[in-house]
Formats: sequence, structure tokens, C-alpha cells
Amino acid sequence: MQVSIDQDRCCSSGQCVVTVPEIFEQGDHDGLVRLRRSSVAPEHLADVRLASQLCPGGAITVTEDA
Ligand code: SF4
Repeated sequence: MQVSIDQDRCCSSGQCVVTVPEIFEQGDHDGLVRLRRSSVAPEHLADVRLASQLCPGGAITVTEDA
């Protein structure tokens, strides 16, 4: 599974960083989300899906592997 983000939609809530800090981080200066990695390990699948659902800006897209 891959995850991508749209910084234009991020409102810096920090929800994703709290949910999966192994994948998401926030910029020190702008608070916008950044990816630590785009490939999601099996143990983080459920949490990344949850982060995508909880994101108030709809900024997180999850793409299943073919
Ligand atoms: S949950 Fe969404 S809006 Fe909040 S920091 Fe993460 S990407 Fe940005």
C-alpha cells in the first residue's frame, strides 16, 4: 500500500502525526504534513487508513498495491 499527501489541503491539525508518527510528520515552520515514507509496512496499514479517514482536510490518499 502506498500513501500520498496533498499539502494544499492540509490544515495542520496534526491528527495524522498523532495516529501514525512512523509515516507522517509536520514541518517545524509551516506545520504542514510531510511523509517519512510513502510505502506503508503491513503493521501500519490499519492506522494509515484511519488517519486518511480522520484527516479534516481530506489530504491523505491511500492507494492499494495492484
Ligand atoms: S490530519 Fe490531514 S490536515 Fe491534519 S496534519 Fe495530517 S494531513 Fe494535515
